[in-house]
Amino acid sequence: MTSEKLSPQGLARRRLVGAAASSVILAAAPVGSSTGVLAGQERQDEKPFDLLIRGGKVVDPSQSLEAVRDVAIREGKIARLEVGIPVAQARQVVDADAKIVTPGLIDLHTHVFPYVGPYGIEPDPYFLARGVTTVVDAGTSGAFTFSAFRRFIIERASTRIRALLHVVSIGMVAGSTPHMGELEDLRYCDPKLAARVAGENRDLIVGFKIRFSQQYTGPNDLEGMRRARAAADEAGLPLMIHIGGSFTPLPELLGLMKRGDVVTHSFNSHPHGLLDDSGALLPEVRAARERGVWFDVGHGAGSFSFEVMEKCLKQDFSPDTISTDLYSANLHGPVYDLPTTLSKFLLLGMDLSDVVRRATLNAAQVFNFGVQLGTLRPGAEADVSVLELREGEFTFTDSDGKTRTGRQKVFPVVTVRGGKLFYPST
Ligand SMILES: [Zn+2]
Repeated sequence: MTSEKLSPQGLARRRLVGAAASSVILAAAPVGSSTGVLAGQERQDEKPFDLLIRGGKVVDPSQSLEAVRDVAIREGKIARLEVGIPVAQARQVVDADAKIVTPGLIDLHTHVFPYVGPYGIEPDPYFLARGVTTVVDAGTSGAFTFSAFRRFIIERASTRIRALLHVVSIGMVAGSTPHMGELEDLRYCDPKLAARVAGENRDLIVGFKIRFSQQYTGPNDLEGMRRARAAADEAGLPLMIHIGGSFTPLPELLGLMKRGDVVTHSFNSHPHGLLDDSGALLPEVRAARERGVWFDVGHGAGSFSFEVMEKCLKQDFSPDTISTDLYSANLHGPVYDLPTTLSKFLLLGMDLSDVVRRATLNAAQVFNFGVQLGTLRPGAEADVSVLELREGEFTFTDSDGKTRTGRQKVFPVVTVRGGKLFYPST
């Protein structure tokens, strides 16, 4: 049991490791202390657990659990979730007294394909170090760039990364004005190519993504939607659509969405959103939810409005999942990270368990991750977030620059992924 050993891949990752010498670790027996002992005796010397997270308040909506428990981990899986597991049974112990312990957080809308285009950021410092064990990259790569994303980022990261392939084959290599938006020329929107690349990478590609804002599409969004539908149907995978300022009114786009598809940037303040001019939720939005379409936050630099969110909550329409849309332009505000984004929902009146549910249990159900996530049940992946809920006066800003003051904020303390520990670098 050791903290992450990193190959030298930049300062940010090295800082991550440097911080791992934290006082949170109480005890660590050397790995392989039974070396040299006869095979038959080896089990006697070995402690049954690699890691014990002791004394935290476990908030696990998958089990309707909100109580103090110890979490024992062995060989990358949750081994036991109980009260009073002896410290002596684990090689390494994390003291989580007065902390919150949740299943590893899942962020369904991120951009973690850096160095190609303006959006991507390094996954480990901004996600794994801040409580997020699994991210879904929302369309940064397309059919032409996915192999680079796979080889140079996904396979090297410690954060678990799954991808939504952009239906436009160039992905998000450019922003927009004064440059060309990716759907302004439909020749790049090739559903057969997208479906083929998704089929060749079924271990990592869990769906498709397409962006519908006028600056990225011109008048082509409805045709883009038809092609995205075709790609998703051919591959048998769900589709995530980005909304906010689309050329075509939202009900027409929603009309092409099926059970399991996802709307992201749901609570933005741009034209053609979820609300009509009087602030009432569109009936087509409720109908889409009723037939199984998910509504995700996708905060971003321009896509989350406290006012719109408040109006939706008053009409009993809360997000299914809470995600950041974290990328280069919102990393230093207003988004910062997933714990900050989750905190905004505490100030909007959701309780902690309902907030955690939207970044664990619910998020785990949206895509096929191929492993058991979003729960601390024994047998699940050993992905655990240790968080601190601090009381105080905290100012939060939405994408429109509007602020709200909350009395609680979630901070990452330590994250466990595959049995290894990761700490925030700041
Ligand atoms: Zn995005």
